[in-house]
Amino acid sequence: ATPTAIMVGTGLGARAGILFRNADALEQTRKLTTLVVDKTGTLTQGQPAVVDVQAAEHVSAQDALALAYALESQSEHPLARAVVNYARAQDVTAAEISGFQAVPGQGVRAEYQGHPIALGSPAYLATLGCTIDHDLTQSWQQQGRTVVGVAQGQTVLAWFGLADQIRPEAQEAVATLQQQGLDVVMLTGDNARVAQAVAQKVGIKTVIAGVLPDGKAAEIRKLKEQGKCVGMVGDGINDAPALASADVGFAIGAGADIALETADVVLMRSNLMALVDALSLSRATVSKIW
Ligand code: ADP
Ligand code: MG
Repeated sequence: ATPTAIMVGTGLGARAGILFRNADALEQTRKLTTLVVDKTGTLTQGQPAVVDVQAAEHVSAQDALALAYALESQSEHPLARAVVNYARAQDVTAAEISGFQAVPGQGVRAEYQGHPIALGSPAYLATLGCTIDHDLTQSWQQQGRTVVGVAQGQTVLAWFGLADQIRPEAQEAVATLQQQGLDVVMLTGDNARVAQAVAQKVGIKTVIAGVLPDGKAAEIRKLKEQGKCVGMVGDGINDAPALASADVGFAIGAGADIALETADVVLMRSNLMALVDALSLSRATVSKIW
C-alpha cells in the first residue's frame, strides 16, 4: 500500500477505536489465515462469578471459604476476584495466611497454621497429591464452568464452580471471520471440557486447552511453522508472550497494560466485531488508492 493509503487506513482505524501500532500491522492483518483467540476475557466477559460451591464432608463451607478468600485476595487473576466477591457477599472473614505464591496458569498457594494450603484447577490440586472428585468437577465443566478447589495439605476442602458470560457478539464475530475464510482457534489455560463447552456455543471447532502461560507462545509458533499467518487475540497478562509471537497480536478492550504494550493492534472497543472491522480496513487499505 502507498504511504498515503496507510495514513488514511490508520486514521480511519483510530476513529473506529482500532489502533494499528505501525504500517506493518495494517498490511499484515489482511494476510492472516488463522486467528487464535484466548477464552477468558476475550470470548467471555472476563468477569466470572461463583455459581456453585460444594464443601467436602465434615467441612464447613464457611471455613473453606475463609481460606479461599485469604488466598485469592492476594491474587490478580480474574477468577480470584470472583472468589473474593463471593466470600464478601457471604460475610466471611479471611483466614490469616502467610507465604503467598502464585503458580501461573494453575493456581495459588500459601501456609495456614503451619500447613500448606492451595487453590486452583483440579489438575493443579492433583499434582499436590489431592484426590479429585471427577464426577463433580467434570459435570460442572461440561456446563462450561471453570472449577477450582481449595485444599489444605492433600485434602480438598471445597470445590467452586465459576461461570463467565460469553460476550453477546462472540458467535456473530466468529461466524463472520469463518465466512471470510479464517480459521478460528481457541487457546486457553482452562480445562478442555470447559473450553469445548464454550467453543461449541460460539462456533469454534479447533480448541487448544490446558496450556500453561509459557505454552501459549509455543502453540502460536507451531502454527506459524505449519506455514500459517497467525493473528492472536488476547486481553491478559498471560497473553503477552503469545501476542508477541503472532504475526499480528491484537489486544482487546481494557486489557492488562502489558497486553496493550505488546500488541500490534489495540481494539479499544471491548467488542469482538472490532476484529472483523480491523480485517476489512486492512483489506481496503491495500486494495484502494485514496
Ligand atoms: P486463561 O487462559 O483461560 O485466561 P489462565 O492461564 O490464566 O487461564 O489460568 C488457567 C487455569 O489456572 C484457570 O482456569 C484456573 O483453573 C487456574 N488458576 C490460575 N490462577 C488462579 C487463581 N488465582 N485462582 C483460581 N484459579 C486459578
Ligand atoms: Mg485471558
